[in-house]
Amino acid sequence: MSSQPKIWLSLAQMGGQEQKFIQEAFDTNWVVPLGPNVDGFERDLQGYLGEDKHIVALSSGTAALHLALIQMGVGEGDEVICQSFTFSASANPIRYVGAIPIFVDSEPDTWNMSPKFLEEAIRDRIAQTGRAPKVMIPVHLYGMPAKMDEIMAIANRYGIAVLEDAAEALGSIYKGQFCGTFGEFACLSFNGNKIITTSGGGALVCSRADDAVVTKFLATQARDNAPHYQHSHIGYNYRLSNICAGIGRGQMLVLDQHIAARRSINHKYKEMLKDCPGISFLENPGPAFESNMWLTCIIIDPHKAGFSREDLRLKMEAANIETRPLWKPMHLQPIFHEYPFYGDGTAETLFNNGLCLPSHPALTQQDLERVVGIIDLSRLAQ
Ligand SMILES: *Cc1c(COP(=O)(O)O)cnc(C)c1O
Repeated sequence: MSSQPKIWLSLAQMGGQEQKFIQEAFDTNWVVPLGPNVDGFERDLQGYLGEDKHIVALSSGTAALHLALIQMGVGEGDEVICQSFTFSASANPIRYVGAIPIFVDSEPDTWNMSPKFLEEAIRDRIAQTGRAPKVMIPVHLYGMPAKMDEIMAIANRYGIAVLEDAAEALGSIYKGQFCGTFGEFACLSFNGNKIITTSGGGALVCSRADDAVVTKFLATQARDNAPHYQHSHIGYNYRLSNICAGIGRGQMLVLDQHIAARRSINHKYKEMLKDCPGISFLENPGPAFESNMWLTCIIIDPHKAGFSREDLRLKMEAANIETRPLWKPMHLQPIFHEYPFYGDGTAETLFNNGLCLPSHPALTQQDLERVVGIIDLSRLAQ
């Protein structure tokens, strides 16, 4: 085992103002899942994403996806199209509402939902079931915007509502527009390792003000307007605490700095590894794409590099450096393998050969050199 200090994949990074907002919550006794920090955090997110959006802060990104599916009328037996190459949280809420996930493969430019297989899936579902899937969930994985023009065009052609999973993509831009502002709904996540954190938390971005009102209602146990506890809907306990929202307000002050730092780390890795055979990066495929570069991801061609993804991951681990294979596609997961999948194996190949490198803002030049040094050593060892 290496005696050198651990280099983590992705760490939370506080900006300095978080404690001030938390202290305010304590001083005013707003230690509950509502209050001035929750309202303030929602306003900050709205100010960032656009005044035409309506934001509800929730306990997680997963909760946001769940409440969106409920409001989109998805229920037992409905079909929902989901990008296969993602974290399981994108797909689990489809099962919470009793619906059937239909998995669609990625395309090689963005690693996100392939418009070609998306359309193929829709046509085949219509042929098989007589109706189109109700909702589609494209994901902006690792912060890379999906090809939203093509995806929205297909969604409109078949009348399918879009729920964007922007959990990893706060601050990413596609054709001048923020990820999370294309769909009828979008989820954001502020889990510990995301681009900003509230220790745990999320938000639902709604395009209609009415939907934000319903989201808040459902997220607070669906209490009817009565002096006693009266319920005519099933409710959830999904609001964000006023303490966590205080962290979020502090984090919003440094969001742009975090994005700049992650992009700079990505740029440095690319420079340092540009002459390394068999290593390629997830890169903006053109000027329309401005990823927040949440995590720097590489693909290893074992024939050209002389080592495999797993060889490299183990060497990193022995050197006390945390790396992680890319997301294992949902259609290959034991819980989801029985559901339909449309694709050609692109996501599976990415999973087999891809690795996330340490990417958080606190990494020093020395840390990056240690990471790159392991790659160089793996190459020379061949
Ligand atoms: C983190 C994440 C989520 C879920 O967010 P939580 O806040 O952890 O519930 C959903 N989708 C993707 C792609 C994620 O990375």
